[in-house]
Amino acid sequence: MKRISIDSELCTGCGLCVGGCPRNAIVVENGCARIDFRLCDLCGSCVEICPVGAIERKAPVVGRGTDLDDYDGIWIWGEVDSERRLSPVVFELLNIGRSLAEKRGTSLSVVVVGDGIAELAKGAVERGADRVYLVDAPEYKDFIEERYVDAIAHLVERYRPEIILGGATMSGRRLMPRLAVRLKTGLTADCTGLDIDPETGGLLQTRPAFGGNIMATIVCPNIRPQMATVRHKTFAEAERKSGLEGEIVEIDANEIALENLTKLLLSRVDEQDKGELSIVDADIIVSGGRGVGGPDGFEPLKELARLLGGAVGASRPTVDSGWIPYHHQVGQTGRTVAPKLYIACGISGAIQHKVGMQTSDFIVAINKDKTAPIFDIADIGIVGDLFDVVPALIKRLPK
Ligand code: FAD
Repeated sequence: MKRISIDSELCTGCGLCVGGCPRNAIVVENGCARIDFRLCDLCGSCVEICPVGAIERKAPVVGRGTDLDDYDGIWIWGEVDSERRLSPVVFELLNIGRSLAEKRGTSLSVVVVGDGIAELAKGAVERGADRVYLVDAPEYKDFIEERYVDAIAHLVERYRPEIILGGATMSGRRLMPRLAVRLKTGLTADCTGLDIDPETGGLLQTRPAFGGNIMATIVCPNIRPQMATVRHKTFAEAERKSGLEGEIVEIDANEIALENLTKLLLSRVDEQDKGELSIVDADIIVSGGRGVGGPDGFEPLKELARLLGGAVGASRPTVDSGWIPYHHQVGQTGRTVAPKLYIACGISGAIQHKVGMQTSDFIVAINKDKTAPIFDIADIGIVGDLFDVVPALIKRLPK
């Protein structure tokens, strides 16, 4: 729904709004003003200027004070990766989303925004989406979160979902809080568990709190939509099934007012990322801390990761010291990972590191200091010098 509209019955075509618009977004055609919503930033100058009150600015219909019964359905943000595929976390959300939708007796939808992404709608349906809202237009080629917020907020105002879920990925962390602010609702970030009250539709959002020492279940009782991000690999992916049917709703991008006209001028990809397994996707991570002693100290860890088909992680001091690039960092200010196997080498186990890896299935810690806190969460602890232990593992692995 556009938030500025012109009443053609009242408009006299005087053109005062045309001159008063700082973005040149208004023209007079056939005796009536018309707004080009690709240029309009909803500043409202035209509303003030119009001498006959023909231009109206509507308040958003979401947020506090709205009727909760007006909201229905569970939505998932269909995050698209750099290869123009739906991110794996979307399939994981379709799995938990399906079980929530069944409990509540409602529908499950995916919102996909991008350019040239129409094919992805089928992929979402094959994994169980009842409906896919598709915003497919050149304006959304680059992931500029403000534009994506404009598009998704537009759909929320029109269709009013009860719940919106997204991945707690780098992009999800950029988009979802901004969307929550726009919608004037709450967001529980980094959930590791979700359930629903079938009667009220209240989403029970569970996540670690106080540095992972307690699990908090958070509810948002008075405001809709309810919003949560979920950590990657918290849930299994919904399986692909043939024969599933779903509705694909193609949205006319011209209807969407882009409030923010940011343009992406240059995108620089870290060269070392190319072809390298990301720690977020890896099933096995060999991670190094200050105990590796310097950039060269990562070499045996890289070799072990290579032999295991895994990725190399790192603690923050090693990144801050420039021993390894930031995209390897695990922890509070790095990435959250949950691999099947996490091997921590020369990492003490500070809380800020643990919150990023403690949900790993199996943790092996190698540390010279037998009192290191990392041993408290390790399934296997090896007290020893990593430069003895890691080469010994490498030697034995081929066998
Ligand atoms: P240290 O604590 O110095 O531990 C090194 C360990 O290596 C020691 O236990 C030592 O016994 C062992 N060791 C030394 N030599 C050897 C050897 N040869 N063989 C075996 N063991 C050896 N940290 C993160 O990791 N990720 C984050 O995202 C993060 N975010 C933060 C955010 C904030 C706001 C703050 C304040 C801190 C953050 N930190 C983060 C830093 C965190 O508090 C710790 O300082 C950091 O995790 C410690 O890193 P480390 O274990 O590598 O180093």
